[in-house]
Amino acid sequence: MNQEVRTRFAPSPTGYLHVGGLRTALFAYLFAKHNQGKFVLRIEDTDQARFIEGAIEKLINILNDIGLKYDEGLFIENGKIIGKGEHGPYLQSQRKEIYKEYAEKLVASGNAYYCFCDEKRLEELRKEQEALKQPTRYDRKCRNLSKEDVQTNLNQGLGYVIRQAIPLDGQTIVKDLVYKDIVWENKALDDQVLMKSDGFPTYHLAVVVDDHLMQISHVIRGEEWIPSTPKHILLYKAFDWQAPQFAHLPLLLNKDRSKLSKRQGDVAVEDYLSKGYLKEALINFIALLGWNPKTDQEIFSMQELIEQFDLTKVNKSGSIFDVEKLNWLNNIYIRKLSASELKDLLIPYLISFGLITEDGKKHLAKNGKEVSVEFLEAIAKIESERLSALSEIGERVNYFFEQPKYLPEILIWKKSDLGQTKNALKKTLDFLEKLSDAEFKAAVLENKLKEFISQNGFDNGSVLWPLRVALSGLEKSPNPFEIIETLHLGYGKFEILQRLEAALKMLE
Ligand code: GLU
Repeated sequence: MNQEVRTRFAPSPTGYLHVGGLRTALFAYLFAKHNQGKFVLRIEDTDQARFIEGAIEKLINILNDIGLKYDEGLFIENGKIIGKGEHGPYLQSQRKEIYKEYAEKLVASGNAYYCFCDEKRLEELRKEQEALKQPTRYDRKCRNLSKEDVQTNLNQGLGYVIRQAIPLDGQTIVKDLVYKDIVWENKALDDQVLMKSDGFPTYHLAVVVDDHLMQISHVIRGEEWIPSTPKHILLYKAFDWQAPQFAHLPLLLNKDRSKLSKRQGDVAVEDYLSKGYLKEALINFIALLGWNPKTDQEIFSMQELIEQFDLTKVNKSGSIFDVEKLNWLNNIYIRKLSASELKDLLIPYLISFGLITEDGKKHLAKNGKEVSVEFLEAIAKIESERLSALSEIGERVNYFFEQPKYLPEILIWKKSDLGQTKNALKKTLDFLEKLSDAEFKAAVLENKLKEFISQNGFDNGSVLWPLRVALSGLEKSPNPFEIIETLHLGYGKFEILQRLEAALKMLE
């Protein structure tokens, strides 16, 4: 079979993109691209009760932001949602006539039937079955209505749905590329609704009709759709169509192996992006949720993923969404950026945390002074080692933008005391005062200060600890040499001396 590989992502517009949805989209994308095929975006919005204003735009934008490029489907151009491709419309609510036509075909061929049972009857039936501890399903009351009875009911204007007439015996086998063969007894399947009374199709009818008409060769989707798949296969049979191949993807789990939920952390892709996870890192991380390349490689570019992705290496068991691993990966991608690139990405966070403001092309620090591009780049460089998400910058670098506030006690190193600390700080202040501007470089400072420490018979900690705290106000921060070089670059020597003087004053 030389059919072109065509996959699709078919989300319902919920108002956000779940990380599990991104994983589905990514795998479908990688599989298509690995096979020189096409990737389609179709929006499944047949559940009118769940309509959310702006949700489709949001979805399209987030796929764009994350860099998943589809070949066909819905796009936004000049602020408008438009369809592109030969198999549209790609919005299910615009395909109602198509579904109606195909539902009628199924009725004509005896694979579906009109059902006039109202909500009240169905509710009573459900209660009865529950009381008897039976599976709740439709009892097929309308399955054998004669043509005439159906016509009479229609003429009377009775409301109806169209149900799938599931074969009463036999088996349906789902051949899944991940889960292998799954056998279903037809008698265990419900005569589910295909067309609702509001004229909209259900997911089951729409997905089959669309995947067929859009010539989808491989349906790649979450494990939760496995129980629906035998019904879909029976529909393909009823239409006399060849079914696509199916690949279901394992569930995403929390660390405690419960189903990934909002309660235990973020699940929306946009939340990760806005916290400052780089899209390359997110893609890399998501690709490894359920796909095992079976090598030691952990860092993958999109191109490498496309080259190596293979459905046979997708696991059946659930995969843990381990935020610590994401943090580790994101830090690796952050460190790959140049100081200038990272600075550009950090500026919006510095602004949103109120550490700097933008004034035309200039940036002003919280202390009112103008800060240079070089200064911001130096901060980016120092922090890149430790950042696992860009938004963390907000809590880390306040001291670069205003004099730090802190409790004087923390100036005293654990093996030192007040007298020693004052003495050490005073001498360090005098020492730094005498250095020339050219000497305010981390490597030079490190040598000079270490020499100064040994000449005075100090311990490293008794000098470097209070020095660092006086500059940063923090018990944990980058080393004092880098801080001094950066502050010097930003504001000159005076700023450094002033901070040491302020510390000494606090110790009085
Ligand atoms: N609209 C379904 C969803 O929201 C798509 C399932 C499928 O891919 O068949 O997940």
